[in-house]
Amino acid sequence: MIEAMRAVTFQAPGRVEVAERPEPELLERDDAVVAIEASGICGSDLHIYHGRVKIEPGFTIGHEFVGRVLAAGEGVSRVAVGDRVLGCFHTACGTCFFCLRGAYHRCARARTFGHGRALGDLPGTQAEQALVPMANLTLRRVPEGLADELALFAGDVAGTGYHSVLEAGVRPGDSIAVLGLGPVGLCAVQAALAAGAGPVWGIDTVPERLEMARGFGAQPLHLTEEQPREVIRRATEGRGVDGAIDCVGHPDALDLAIRLARPAGTVVATGVYAEPCRVHMGLVWIKALRISSGQANVIGHVDRVLGMLAAGSLDPGPLVTHRLSLEEAPTAYQIYDRREALKIVLRP
Ligand SMILES: [Zn+2]
Ligand SMILES: [Zn+2]
Repeated sequence: MIEAMRAVTFQAPGRVEVAERPEPELLERDDAVVAIEASGICGSDLHIYHGRVKIEPGFTIGHEFVGRVLAAGEGVSRVAVGDRVLGCFHTACGTCFFCLRGAYHRCARARTFGHGRALGDLPGTQAEQALVPMANLTLRRVPEGLADELALFAGDVAGTGYHSVLEAGVRPGDSIAVLGLGPVGLCAVQAALAAGAGPVWGIDTVPERLEMARGFGAQPLHLTEEQPREVIRRATEGRGVDGAIDCVGHPDALDLAIRLARPAGTVVATGVYAEPCRVHMGLVWIKALRISSGQANVIGHVDRVLGMLAAGSLDPGPLVTHRLSLEEAPTAYQIYDRREALKIVLRP
């Protein structure tokens, strides 16, 4: 007999509901079932909440999670029942053309948790339990002593910040600008500093976020009250930064990143783009810029990111502004939608 569990479901734009769903069961030999102990609400959940990313009403959402392995198929060898684990936000097969080249984020058989039928029909993790396919690649043991709410950053937000810095080709002493100081931008600030970059400028309009970036060691720049282009130009002998990382996902942010980067520098478009976007290609060409884009290869980075979290060189702890129960999810989404929170952690 299948038992019921509680899960956060998308109902309609602006409405999520905690509903009963059947408990997951092992379907394939490399599946695991995880009892969720903490799950984050992410900016991409907000795209679903607003109806911008379309998923089926009633679908369970969420893709950042930490928990304990409840059951594992016989093909699961890297984690065992009872292990405390964290998950990556999507699965990867390990054997397709892309996985063989280490590009797990473009795995031909990838499924993303909590993003509806279009992205693999895999129920989300804002629930009491979650089915985890391809568990050998999707799950990692949480290092001893690492708190749940820090570990859950490894499989998405901190992994994405780390990816952005890697794509920017940061070397010690490089100057970096991070545009947009949401959780990913703030993690990119930390990862850039951990990689030895400096100065690192953090650009945003929200005073609290600028203050947090300052606390991490960045130089905060208010987008409209200061003149980021002027300040950075003066500080770099007129050249611009070695790397500009756009964690916003808006044409204006990408344009500013292109203008802030020095000739033969790098621009990383980490923020989400889904539509055509005007880019001043003449400027990109004249400046000989390298542009990198796309979602992060979190499965490729997760072990290093966990190492950095365990060592404290990445510390997203201050980003967790709200802790609520799973049952309070409708309120949590309202708070997040009003931009009153950086990271909300839900606990069943
Ligand atoms: Zn996410
Ligand atoms: Zn693959």
